[in-house]
Amino acid sequence: MRHVLVLGGTTEGRALAAALAELPSLRVTSSLAGRVAEPRLPAGEVRIGGFGGPDGLAAWLRTERVAAVVDATHPFAAGMSRNAALAAAATDVPLLVLRRPGWATVDGDRWHRVPSLAAAAELLPALGRRVFLTTGRQGIGTFAHLDGLHFLARSVDPPEPPLPTALEVLLDRGPFTLDGERALLRGHRIDVLVTKDSGGAATAPKLTAARELGLPVVVVERPPLPAGVPAAPDVPTATHWLQQLP
Ligand code: NAP
Repeated sequence: MRHVLVLGGTTEGRALAAALAELPSLRVTSSLAGRVAEPRLPAGEVRIGGFGGPDGLAAWLRTERVAAVVDATHPFAAGMSRNAALAAAATDVPLLVLRRPGWATVDGDRWHRVPSLAAAAELLPALGRRVFLTTGRQGIGTFAHLDGLHFLARSVDPPEPPLPTALEVLLDRGPFTLDGERALLRGHRIDVLVTKDSGGAATAPKLTAARELGLPVVVVERPPLPAGVPAAPDVPTATHWLQQLP
């Protein structure tokens, strides 16, 4: 049996693990960072926690005799993606990045694309006063100094300081519905939305709701993929890539 490591923590990571678990020729281990207190567990074997940088991951690949790695981490987990590229190169283990496409604007969108969370924070005061922040709990500190603004932040687990003074936290995890997002934006009188360009259907309804209400959206652009690593946009393409390996 060929051992495949799936670097997960995403919907696609779980879907890939489920698809690969059906293939009798493969042994699948999914790896999670351990950031979420109660993660949704993928099918197959699961390990939780960091590897100890690229060298630790390379050692793990050798010890566990891994035949291929699929980096199905979140588009913004750039550190893990860089480590995977370095470890795969050091061990000669084939690596594929499974990355869902980013979101695209449609007519009526009022998007402001920015290169980082810091750039989003800089732009915000010019766009609104009541902010719906959906960038995940780890990034909330970037907005902590914006005293004039009121924040509604949604995250899976509670955020930790530093935090903005006027902050309401909504603990929830997707998928979210259009009706729910509409009600939330109206109910909290939100006048600007901040999001990463995560892509995918589970969290896209907020963009439709913002468009309907004519709200500006600050969209943080994705970090680049590691150079030279092949990428697949979906689970069937990633499964096919694995099956084609010599
Ligand atoms: P990151 O900044 O790129 O990674 C930081 C460190 O966390 C890595 O160097 C690695 O530690 C460890 N790590 C990350 N992903 C791992 C995995 N799948 N398995 C084992 N160790 C992992 O990562 P992050 O942005 O904090 O994301 C952490 C996890 O949450 C990922 O699994 C990602 O898919 C998921 N996630 C992230 C976001 C986001 O917006 N960033 C959103 C949803 C889900 P070592 O160096 O010790 O190996």
